[in-house]
Amino acid sequence: MTRARVLLLNPALGPLDYRVPHGMTVEPGSIVLAPLGPRQMIGVVWEEDAMPSDAEVGDNRLRNLLQVYEIPPIGAPLRRLVEWTANYYLAPPAAVLRMALSSAAALEGAPTVVEYRLTGRAPDKMTVQRAQALERIGERQGLIRELATIADVSDGVIRGLVKLGAIEAVEVSLETPFLAPDPDFAPPDLSEEQAAASDWLVDAVKSRDFAPVLLDGVTGSGKTEVYFEAIAQALRMDRQTLVLLPEIALTEPFLRRFEARFGHAPVAWHSDLRQSQRRRAWRAISKGEALVTVGARSALFLPYRNLGLIIVDEAHEASFKQEEGVQYHARDVAVMRGRFEGCPVILASATPAIETRQQVALGRYAELKLPERHGTAEMPEITAIDLTQDPPERGRWLAPTLVRAMQETLEREEQSLLFLNRRGFAPLTLCRHCGHRFQCPNCTAWMVEHRLLQRLQCHHCGHNMPPPRACPECHEEDALVACGPGVERIADEVALLFPEARRAIVTSDTLWSPAKAAEFVGKMEAGEIDIVIGTQLVTKGYHFPNLTLVGVVDADLGLQGGDLRAAERSFQQIAQVAGRAGRGEKPGHVYVQTHEPSAPVIRALVSGDAESFYAAETESRREAGAPPFGRFAGIIVSSESMKDAQDTAQQIGKSAPLVEGMHVYGPAPAPLAMLRGRHRQRLLVHARRALDVQDVIRDWLGALEWPRSVRVSVDVDPYSFV
Ligand code: ADP
Ligand code: ZN
Repeated sequence: MTRARVLLLNPALGPLDYRVPHGMTVEPGSIVLAPLGPRQMIGVVWEEDAMPSDAEVGDNRLRNLLQVYEIPPIGAPLRRLVEWTANYYLAPPAAVLRMALSSAAALEGAPTVVEYRLTGRAPDKMTVQRAQALERIGERQGLIRELATIADVSDGVIRGLVKLGAIEAVEVSLETPFLAPDPDFAPPDLSEEQAAASDWLVDAVKSRDFAPVLLDGVTGSGKTEVYFEAIAQALRMDRQTLVLLPEIALTEPFLRRFEARFGHAPVAWHSDLRQSQRRRAWRAISKGEALVTVGARSALFLPYRNLGLIIVDEAHEASFKQEEGVQYHARDVAVMRGRFEGCPVILASATPAIETRQQVALGRYAELKLPERHGTAEMPEITAIDLTQDPPERGRWLAPTLVRAMQETLEREEQSLLFLNRRGFAPLTLCRHCGHRFQCPNCTAWMVEHRLLQRLQCHHCGHNMPPPRACPECHEEDALVACGPGVERIADEVALLFPEARRAIVTSDTLWSPAKAAEFVGKMEAGEIDIVIGTQLVTKGYHFPNLTLVGVVDADLGLQGGDLRAAERSFQQIAQVAGRAGRGEKPGHVYVQTHEPSAPVIRALVSGDAESFYAAETESRREAGAPPFGRFAGIIVSSESMKDAQDTAQQIGKSAPLVEGMHVYGPAPAPLAMLRGRHRQRLLVHARRALDVQDVIRDWLGALEWPRSVRVSVDVDPYSFV
């Protein structure tokens, strides 16, 4: 090749052509450094026919490529995935490619980096900042910048501590190999049903073919044990496995469980990694040496050299949908990656999404079922508490029946879990005197009181302030009242009811790192916690054998908002949190507090008849032409100027093409009409399944222009309708 088409890591640019200088060889997928104006930029060589160039440039005007990195080229399957993702989600290919090259630092040749850690010696002169740094850094290690961030001090403070001998440099190798997990380290005795599922999966891995499969098993049925056997097979074939988990908080217990089964931990990939860990993992993954990678959705686009198996655990989770940047659904993209790589894709869930069930019904995905819990564990009994008949005391949130059950659970020295999907103390604060409500200045949202932090906080933009003593409107003092409960308020109620019980609040505020999650799991396992009060974070994959009581504080909460998946999501969430109860030898009991015990969701949970609930939901989706029977795409138009946003949205609405089988709703103010200081207008495109709606939208928006201040983003297959 003397000429090469290169996709640079700049989403504003299309592919550009370069000359390959004498003595340099490149192939499609090669990672190169190219000149761009006065700067240099990383890019990937692409097939010319797959990616039309922005500008045709004659051979004599081409600029030379500067360098090819000595790392394996991006493989053809990943290149196809980048194209597919960009095309399907209407994103610039370079924005997708950036996710594949997310650790560009790994490209630099140096085999080692210098990190810093505490020496244990105190500096001669202590200052407030120095003390804060030493305390916060603790056992951790990292670049100066990373330590400064952890400690919330300037780089200068850290450098000062290095000079004083309180912090020292250590050399870290990026080439230390990851120890290979051993497929035969500690295999389980599988039940007959488990073995049947596992055999199917092992065969699928052996056949080296694309095979999407739903592993549908009730909570605690051993889905993880079963797909571990598929991983063991991939290990025996020296092929790589990717396990996607929905939450960073889940990785730590998963890593330990994996280690118990395979002798060594897998490679973890998530946003909490230090730069050196990232670089080391990225390299090992791209060379095919990291055999099992466990990560959040960003792990999906890594350049696995030799991928033999993909697993999406808790595949129904909405958090697999990315809402910023490239708005993709990791579950769906994982299936596409499996298709391009030619490997099985296992979607594991106790409450599979209707979309996934439909693929099974159409025969596109295989299905393996595990209808029973492993061993002697039984599914928990679920009882609805009708809050209209059995109400909590005034100003309280827990009904007497639930409180009694908690009392008995404490007496048996077992653990309870209260679930409420609301962070903070109260979702709304108002002035008793004048009725003033605290709203975020940047968003159409109430400020949420966080009493532990003594702040009012916006959950959308992070804006926060201390709760004022006087109302800003009428200046009345001490007149502010909290309305409605958040987990902190429930925790206060628990403290009043059971002062001797040991409580833990589990939300993204308290479990914000894998280490924090591990600490929580450790305490639960050691029996150092009696009652957990948590948000959706605790509904996920945890296994605590001594947890026997679950209370759902407000089962009606998820049904508000009217989004098309509200009922399904409510069902999944409550079924998942219920699934935390009675996973060991002791039976579990679940109480669901509701004002509407006859709602289909609640009836399905109580009767255990999920199938008829799903059938009814599926039918109503079919009638409405909603996913998976029809398609939606959201178009959000935002600007700091309300007029610009409105004008552009109007212009887009007016120029909507007339296409058979497609209907455009709006524009109208989005439910979150203001977000982070930007006014938002929304159009919703509804189309029949078979229509190539992306193509229509591309042509439609491509022909329009709008002011620079306006941002137009398209959300294909949206999950959020705000
Ligand atoms: P799921 O992923 O379906 O919720 P898990 O794989 O977490 O279920 O299994 C639930 C519990 O039962 C775990 O503690 C797991 O180790 C245990 N378990 C499941 N199957 C077996 C087995 N065949 N042998 C031993 N323990 C098992
Ligand atoms: Zn805000």
